[in-house]
Amino acid sequence: MNMLIVCPGCGAKNRIPTDKKHLTPKCGKCGVSLANAPVSGIVNPLTDGEFQSQVEQSSLPVLVDFYSPTCGPCRMIAPVIATLAETYAGRLLVFKIDTSSQQMSASRFQIRGVPTLLFFKNGAMVDQLVGAAPQADIERRINNLLD
Ligand SMILES: [Zn+2]
Repeated sequence: MNMLIVCPGCGAKNRIPTDKKHLTPKCGKCGVSLANAPVSGIVNPLTDGEFQSQVEQSSLPVLVDFYSPTCGPCRMIAPVIATLAETYAGRLLVFKIDTSSQQMSASRFQIRGVPTLLFFKNGAMVDQLVGAAPQADIERRINNLLD
């Protein structure tokens, strides 16, 4: 199986075999290390410090799941988010950010409850869903992001 990693340097899409990820692959186009780059197709954990570089500078549309480990509805939609990440591999980046430990981003985007899903395109927040939305609802918002 291959993972799709978008190069943080040049935006090129690199296909890396899953079992080679530990070899700290480099971008095939510009040579930048892909060791810390987010992977399209899975839900990537995100910190406040990475928010700008990984979400707002992404060349792919982005879905960010603001959650808290103690929140029941968050646990309910987590598998839905994972399924969608897989479905939209290569077209979308998906992150989850723990609002109990990463509070800067939550406050910056005025997250009042979890789960909250934020949708980004070209670095701008363009849509949001508050609460545990049905999969079809989330999917419709994602489709709006894709060209
Ligand atoms: Zn590159």
